[in-house]
Amino acid sequence: MPVCLPSNRCSSSSSPTWMEELVDEIVAHAEDKVLEQDIAHWREDLRQRLAQVQQHPEQGLGFIEEHIRQATLRLQCLLVQKAMQDKANQAEEKCPDCGRPLGAKKRRVVRWVDAYCGPVKLARTHGWCPHCEHWVFPADRLLGLRPDSTASPLVQEMCALLVSKMPAEQAEALALRVTGRRLSRSTLAREAQRQGDQALGVRQQLVEAPVVAPTAQASAGRDQASEPFTLVIQIDAWNIRERDHWGRTKQQRRKDPKFDRWHWVYTATCFRLSHRCKKGRFKNKLRPIITERSYVATRGGLDALRQQIYYEARVRGLAQAERVLVLADGAVWIWNLVEDRFKKADQRLDLWHANAYLWAVANELHGKGSKEARQWVKPLLKQVRNDQVAQVITRLEELQPHLAKAAAKAASEAIEYYQDNQKRMKYKEGRQRHEPVGSGAIESTCRQLQCRLKRCGQFWSTRGDEALLCLEMFWRNDRWEMLFPHAKLTALTNN
Ligand SMILES: [Zn+2]
Repeated sequence: MPVCLPSNRCSSSSSPTWMEELVDEIVAHAEDKVLEQDIAHWREDLRQRLAQVQQHPEQGLGFIEEHIRQATLRLQCLLVQKAMQDKANQAEEKCPDCGRPLGAKKRRVVRWVDAYCGPVKLARTHGWCPHCEHWVFPADRLLGLRPDSTASPLVQEMCALLVSKMPAEQAEALALRVTGRRLSRSTLAREAQRQGDQALGVRQQLVEAPVVAPTAQASAGRDQASEPFTLVIQIDAWNIRERDHWGRTKQQRRKDPKFDRWHWVYTATCFRLSHRCKKGRFKNKLRPIITERSYVATRGGLDALRQQIYYEARVRGLAQAERVLVLADGAVWIWNLVEDRFKKADQRLDLWHANAYLWAVANELHGKGSKEARQWVKPLLKQVRNDQVAQVITRLEELQPHLAKAAAKAASEAIEYYQDNQKRMKYKEGRQRHEPVGSGAIESTCRQLQCRLKRCGQFWSTRGDEALLCLEMFWRNDRWEMLFPHAKLTALTNN
């Protein structure tokens, strides 16, 4: 089976004779005549391949597996082609959009489909819908084929999944080894973009629709639906470099002095406190994990974040939660958003950020990494941990007039930060309630996303990064099957 599709994939540009022959061949497949011969041919090919392995003592199970995989790809292509054609033949000659009969039909037209096992051919009719005023192939819709792409739904999914996890160059090499066939990096990138664009539309519909009550949501945990619970929300942001208006930075800056290549990716997570536990093989090395959680990451600005995190929180049971706790650093936009959307939530400043301000003073006073700095900061950190931030502020205020310039600056920044966030610094209370005192869960998510989207030399278009982030969120939020319904089958078979 050739691995590359013929360049002349679109039937409209092919000669009628070529087309008719092809149609006959495909119809013969559908009627099983050729298929039986093909199966016999495949069996012989496989027999020869396996005989070859027997003759080579150095070829182990890996060779057997690889031969069977390669030989079976061809058979799979034949089976896919036949089943696809059978399905296409059943397509009603009606407009899939309005259901009216199609006019001006209907020469059989061939298209190549890039299936996971290789290229396959499909013959189907098309017609004109006078109501919708478009030419349409009902069979293509029935099969889930896009008019603008040759990729089959499984290839569409593979591209989306691979490129949302790694750059297309890596995905190309990986796809070859994992699937046994070549998907070019341009196909991978193009198809992932298409799927990402589609995912953006699905997400928009989702966040605008009413939320299903958590009792009906398996992911929310049926067993806990009626018990009181705390909902934890963590919010953070990181930036990404974009290449829109590439090479025209100066012109753009003249138009808009605030023009910047770096843009914020707003990120959030939300989970029930009871879904946070510690796991590990050794008692003294337990790692906190969250068994069920929702994610948001968007390049679409604060309004998009607000809408999406509000949606995810409702899915996790915002309306039923006994207590809602938001954890984040001191960024003003975060707390404005919380006041707006989660007014009744308790707010907590991430302890690590709180500590960092004291460390900055200590380092200026005694030198970075010095024993004296550690000694100076230790009792103050303890006071912060024990909700005595007022004392810390007083101490810094007393100290400030006697400090050198840099240390005084660090001290005044710390005072301002603590004054702004004092009501959010209840760490003792947090520990007593067995709640997180830091926003580590969201920070580790940010780091993971940065590993994919913030590599050296990477630039993104606004459209490109948002589409990939959207795919990644569908994957993480366990909604992949909304985009690729066939994925359910794998889940079912492996359960
Ligand atoms: Zn129509």
